[in-house]
Amino acid sequence: MCIFCKIVEGEIPANKVLENDEFLAFHDISPKAPIHVLIIPKQHIENFQSTPPEIMAKMTPFIQEVAKKLSLDKSGYRLIINNGEDGGQEVMHLHVHLLGGAKLIWPHLAPDKEAKKYV
Ligand code: 5GP
Ligand code: ZN
Repeated sequence: MCIFCKIVEGEIPANKVLENDEFLAFHDISPKAPIHVLIIPKQHIENFQSTPPEIMAKMTPFIQEVAKKLSLDKSGYRLIINNGEDGGQEVMHLHVHLLGGAKLIWPHLAPDKEAKKYV
């Protein structure tokens, strides 16, 4: 069983923010912002690339509710899904990172890499 499935099953503790039958939101163990929450489907899905669109559709209002519960709905926040190796995905169970609580910067490319311009 993957680490996030273990959190769903209660085998590993997590600081939960919100939960319903299908989704769970909990604080990241190693926060990258003042507020860093992970939102997962309870069902094991490996990554975003293999996620049925209905799951993402149902996840949307849940994420909005999480943002509201954390009082980030007005101040703003960032959602990130790391997919696969280049995306930096470490846990192979779909999760959306919700980051907020401070003005965020925009550093995505590894320092030794260059972006191509298409415009
Ligand atoms: P990824 O790099 O796969 O997009 O993100 C995985 C995230 O899961 C990381 O931010 C990491 O800190 C978090 N994480 C890994 N193991 C645990 C855990 O046992 N509990 C919690 N709450 N977060 C975890
Ligand atoms: Zn899992």
